[in-house]
Amino acid sequence: MARVNTLPPLLDKLGRPVRDLRISVTDRCNFRCVYCMPKTVFGRDYPFMPRAGLLSFEEIACVARIFAARGVKKVRLTGGEPLLRHGVDKLIGMLALIPDLEITLTTNGSLLPQKSALLRAAGLKRVTVSLDALDDAVFKRMNDVDFPVAKVLDGIAVAAAAGLGPIKVNMVVKRGANDHEILALARHFRGSGHILRFIEYMDVGSSNGWKLDEVVSSAEVVRRIDAAFPLEPIDANYPGEVAQRWRYKDGAGEIGVISSVTRAFCDTCTRIRLSTEGKLYTCLFAQSGHDLRELIRAGKSDAELDAAIAAIWQARDDRYSQLRMAATPHLQKIEMSYIGG
Ligand code: SAM
Ligand code: SF4
Ligand code: SF4
Repeated sequence: MARVNTLPPLLDKLGRPVRDLRISVTDRCNFRCVYCMPKTVFGRDYPFMPRAGLLSFEEIACVARIFAARGVKKVRLTGGEPLLRHGVDKLIGMLALIPDLEITLTTNGSLLPQKSALLRAAGLKRVTVSLDALDDAVFKRMNDVDFPVAKVLDGIAVAAAAGLGPIKVNMVVKRGANDHEILALARHFRGSGHILRFIEYMDVGSSNGWKLDEVVSSAEVVRRIDAAFPLEPIDANYPGEVAQRWRYKDGAGEIGVISSVTRAFCDTCTRIRLSTEGKLYTCLFAQSGHDLRELIRAGKSDAELDAAIAAIWQARDDRYSQLRMAATPHLQKIEMSYIGG
């Protein structure tokens, strides 16, 4: 396939460059996390996307190459559960051929025991694992499919041994559901070399029945951990880093907090999302996407696709989280499992 030469970086209407591409490789998942794919909505007859509707690996790699030429430095594979996509290691292998592009993946960890070595061999650098509780009963209530926490912990260990670390472990905190597990997780991962990060529960999609009083703010998370294990703030790794970093004063490592609700980071948001069926979303909360699949399957050249992508990014003025606190959103939004978190 023809390569697009390196082109001037793209800036959106607020002067933000495009740096991170999140690719959803499947809208399916083997979990039904209560805050993401509640069973009441994602039941047995939920109409997941037919196979022919998914972007093929060649089509995904084509889009990634074009973005890389426009300054994207990092690709994150997500979903749904990305490890459910058959042959995802082959896709990783194809993406790994693109120069200067870091490839990462976010997973619920359920398939890491059997897939870590294959993923590493294909060129994956790191994984982020979602883990919402250490207590087995609480974890099972969160994933709602009776999946045992021990298997995810095993997945983390196997991934680390395969060279996919340091592993970031993400906990979405929902008040009354798993917030009493904050300290247990902090204690468990202190000194492990893995970086535990706490994510504020967000109003993504229209199916999770989000209420502001179920959000546990990052400030509260830090206060609770600090009371048991004293913390101090540390500098961001790079400008625009989404997580705020804190380290244990006793040297047992660091944690991160992602304050999507209480401290919007739209000003520095450099992310774009490619959905499973090839729509580009310029914001996690965008109400509609831009159909690239149609252009690709109509046989458009790389240069034509690049022009379409450039026009989409240059027209971007999203800052949903910044506006969230001002207006209560009752709008129909895109489901997280579809757009990829
Ligand atoms: N299945 C994979 C996983 O769970 O890691 C990848 C997809 S999942 C949609 C990506 C991330 O989004 C996960 O860390 C998940 O916890 C997070 N997430 C899903 N719904 C969320 C919500 N309502 N608020 C905050 N984070 C959410
Ligand atoms: Fe599945 Fe991830 Fe959503 Fe949980 S958060 S339901 S694992 S896509
Ligand atoms: Fe980026 Fe949209 Fe999230 Fe703001 S709300 S940080 S623009 S994805």
